[in-house]
Amino acid sequence: MKRLALLLLAASLALAGCYTNPVTGRKSLVLLSQGEELTLGAQSFQQIREKEKVSADPASNARVTRIGQRIAKAVGNELPDAKWEFVVFDSNQLNAFALPGGKVGVYTGLIKLAENDSELAIVMGHEIGHVIARHGAERMSEAMVISGVGALGAAAVEAKTGDAATRQTFELAYGGLTTIGRVLPHSRGNESEADRMGAIYAARAGYDPRASITFWQKMMAQKQAAGGAASEGKLGALLSTHPADTTRIADLKALMPSVLPTYEQNKGKFND
Ligand SMILES: [Zn+2]
Repeated sequence: MKRLALLLLAASLALAGCYTNPVTGRKSLVLLSQGEELTLGAQSFQQIREKEKVSADPASNARVTRIGQRIAKAVGNELPDAKWEFVVFDSNQLNAFALPGGKVGVYTGLIKLAENDSELAIVMGHEIGHVIARHGAERMSEAMVISGVGALGAAAVEAKTGDAATRQTFELAYGGLTTIGRVLPHSRGNESEADRMGAIYAARAGYDPRASITFWQKMMAQKQAAGGAASEGKLGALLSTHPADTTRIADLKALMPSVLPTYEQNKGKFND
């Protein structure tokens, strides 16, 4: 019986196959289809819009939409069937998130912290990077394999995309969503992959990737001023799920020589 279960599991993993990140080339095991992710992303985004206060400020909405559309263009076909939406939420939290299907939320607290458009582009590009890398789906798939539902898991998710528990697991896996009350930090590997992708998308969209260094330094300063790791939760989901430290800054500095030529090519191409 155990043997049969293992066989079924192996067969389902083979069927689900691998997902290849279009930017980094990394292969990952993903048991959800992109269509299922799209449905879950749209459902969750709708819920968040109903629960949180959407900003009525025309200036910050226009700014986030303008930056977002440039990044969406830079992403192109790397996110198939995206229906991009950029929404500003009225809250002092330092937070931003992106969900499958191209649903992006930015909080006014973060907009105030980001001095220039490049810094905002970096953090939006990073969150969009998580979506294109399908990190949430990968985490959900890992959980499905560990809990032994791997063999039937993919079918179960498909049947349950309208189910609240499935959606909550999905939101937890994508992280950064304050509405679910608890957050799960991203792994170091996922973070550096999203950092790399975010810097590349920003550079393709004509934003200076060096803003990633100043932005995360600023986030580190916020954390220190508020009293270290324990305050991350109070400062917002972004800091709780994205620990800013000196390793991260050093990695970003090391990344710059490979992304700056893309920025040099694209800066000034957009005059919006
Ligand atoms: Zn991240």
